[in-house]
Amino acid sequence: MLNPVTFSSTKLGTRLLVLGGVHGNEICGPAAIEQILARFNSGEIKMETGRVTFVPVCNPRAYAENKRFIDRNLNRAMAKRAVPKMYEEFLMNELTPLLEDCDVLLDIHSYRAGGPAFAFRGDDHLRDREEPFIAALGLDHVIYGWSEAYAASGVKIDPIESVGTTEYARQNGAIATTVECGQHLDASAVPVAIRAIEGALNQCGLAKVPVPAAHKTMRRTRIKQLVYKQRHGQFAQAWKHLDEIAKDTIVASFDDGEQIKAPFSGRIVLPHADCPVGQEWFYLGVDET
Ligand SMILES: [Zn+2]
Repeated sequence: MLNPVTFSSTKLGTRLLVLGGVHGNEICGPAAIEQILARFNSGEIKMETGRVTFVPVCNPRAYAENKRFIDRNLNRAMAKRAVPKMYEEFLMNELTPLLEDCDVLLDIHSYRAGGPAFAFRGDDHLRDREEPFIAALGLDHVIYGWSEAYAASGVKIDPIESVGTTEYARQNGAIATTVECGQHLDASAVPVAIRAIEGALNQCGLAKVPVPAAHKTMRRTRIKQLVYKQRHGQFAQAWKHLDEIAKDTIVASFDDGEQIKAPFSGRIVLPHADCPVGQEWFYLGVDET
């Protein structure tokens, strides 16, 4: 069971949804939301218009066990299921009504490979809606191209597999972003998450919260390719998120000797060194202006 917490104004306004712990081992979202909830409960933050709903921990069992998920990734194949079987499918049946009932979604995550905070935005037609929102969250790096890279991956997948929280919310007209606040255990990830929530409350006009000025420039990286770990193998070196990779560099090799080389010069995005077989191993992207 999820435990959403909602604060409303009597004045109509934007409906903001803030999610933490979609992946149970990503603890900065739950920690940041708890601190923000305390500030609401003490009266320090007051609603002026609209409504905000927080779900501090979207995957409670995985959070309790410090795991990414129990039966399946909660951030893939997001859909209602008439007959849920896996644990996360029961959670999806609770999450999807919340995702349908928001104008703006802020989904707070962290990641394995060390590196800076960034946000994902949707496809290019959403650039003008979502990048100003991401800037207002205090972030200065946006990564995009996800759905095109997914479609080009060449791996046969369930057509709704690529639908996560943000894609589901966008299907219902919302502005949505996934914020990756830093490495899972990075102490600075919690302040990044708090700044993002404060920025969302301000930008949506829900509450006035003093925040530092937004960055003036946004770094932008387009994901061009995603690579699944189709069988056992390992990285050619200990890649870090956003390491530069020249064309034809060996990125990884399978245990049968087959090598994966970079098809273009760019950056490795979210490398997952101990990725289980069958999951996303790494992405390759290029910077854009
Ligand atoms: Zn995550």
